[in-house]
Amino acid sequence: MASLIVRGGHVISPEDGLDGELDLLIEDGTIRQIAPHLSGTADETLEARGQIVSPGLVDIHVHLREPGGEISETLESGLRAAVAGGFTAVCPMPNTRPVNDNPELTRHLVERAEELKLARVFPIAAVSLGSQGEKLTDFRALVDAGAVAFSDDGKPVKTSALMKEALEKAKALGAPIIDHCEVPELSAGGVMNEGESSKPLGLRGIPNSSEDRCIDRDIEMAHATGGHLHVAHLSTAGAIQRVREARSRGLQVTCEVTPHHFTLTDEAVARYGTNAKMNPPLRAASDVEAVLAGIQEGVVDAIATDHAPHAAELKARPMSEAPFGVTGLETALGLALTQLVHPGKISMDQMIALMSSRPARIINKPLGHISVGGVADLTVFDPDLEWTYRAAEGCSKSHNSPFDGWKLRGAVTATIVRGRIVFRR
Ligand SMILES: [Zn+2]
Repeated sequence: MASLIVRGGHVISPEDGLDGELDLLIEDGTIRQIAPHLSGTADETLEARGQIVSPGLVDIHVHLREPGGEISETLESGLRAAVAGGFTAVCPMPNTRPVNDNPELTRHLVERAEELKLARVFPIAAVSLGSQGEKLTDFRALVDAGAVAFSDDGKPVKTSALMKEALEKAKALGAPIIDHCEVPELSAGGVMNEGESSKPLGLRGIPNSSEDRCIDRDIEMAHATGGHLHVAHLSTAGAIQRVREARSRGLQVTCEVTPHHFTLTDEAVARYGTNAKMNPPLRAASDVEAVLAGIQEGVVDAIATDHAPHAAELKARPMSEAPFGVTGLETALGLALTQLVHPGKISMDQMIALMSSRPARIINKPLGHISVGGVADLTVFDPDLEWTYRAAEGCSKSHNSPFDGWKLRGAVTATIVRGRIVFRR
């Protein structure tokens, strides 16, 4: 029986009422005791004095590129990046090549992750076959194989009719439909936000209305069906307002925001080029303010990275041709602490909930807790450690981050999954 004591850390688990200096005894992947100054020994001891011990972080939106995109990331490199960033569970999106629209591939991802013994993997399967927007996948079989949600991410669920049917079918299985909200004809050809910043660069813009209009449609379908709509990578003031209103009407509508959308505005494109090209794009300062307000008041349910690695040769293309997306697993916690917690915008408790228990609830997994008898998935971090992020030294196979060279305050020091230390700084 493998045992581990995590000693002297400041244990914080808001939803379990834990906030104090405590020791944790872990045996065979399960938390057995939580108390100050545990006596006795274990096979291994992790000294956590001066550190925060939180529930393992859960990222419900990542792209791990396997199969088909191994030039940019593999399951192994992506999961190494995950645990280096403090994530003990991640949800890979289905827009791989081939698309994860079948139980065999879903099962393969889960099994391969179990072999790798890094972070847990909970796949998000496609809403439609090939994500082509024509015919629904077999939701029941996909859930049985391990899928926790459905999305045609990379693009929106194609039609209202398909969205309605998907929400109905997913509701019966207790799973959310995660939509990448965009009206393709409004954003066609766009490479950055449409606004004051796009004009001098001579680049074609993606208007806020592209995102807002699709959310209107989706909320209408959530209302019609009573299904669970989860809005991916929300980026506009209008989108926050729509989610806020839908929730006040009692609809099951949740949303996530990414660290890049709460940290940067569209002005970053002039500086970082294709490393600031993502979809949805970085928005205007007024949108970032609205997103921050949404985080503060609890309208935003989760911080998710939308980790989107792309090999250097792909991002070296001109702005109009380079693929959308930035990496994010290894900078998310540092950015959340630096941008949100240290300036006093949200509390440590709020940040931990936004990155653990609340995203876990969206995918209906009993994660994001620290309790006796519960799983020993833990993130240990030093909230004040100052460090410089160097993309080239990271674990991800790709380095496409606008935060390369940024000084951050707060770093992961150890990540524990199923009672095993899988990362140590
Ligand atoms: Zn997306």
